[in-house]
Amino acid sequence: MPLYEFQCSACDAIYERLMRFGASETPACPECGGRSGRRLMSTFAQAGGGSDRGCSPGGT
Ligand SMILES: [Zn+2]
Repeated sequence: MPLYEFQCSACDAIYERLMRFGASETPACPECGGRSGRRLMSTFAQAGGGSDRGCSPGGT
């Protein structure tokens, strides 16, 4: 099962949960018990560009 990261929108706690593929429910926050967390993007998707160019200050 993949490990997903969630961030609670109530207390900003970040927690991880093992969830089966296709699961869409949000697990309760371990800090406040809220279920308003959102799933964080996977690490490979955080770069933003999607290309391999890296940072280019000043643009192209
Ligand atoms: Zn919380």
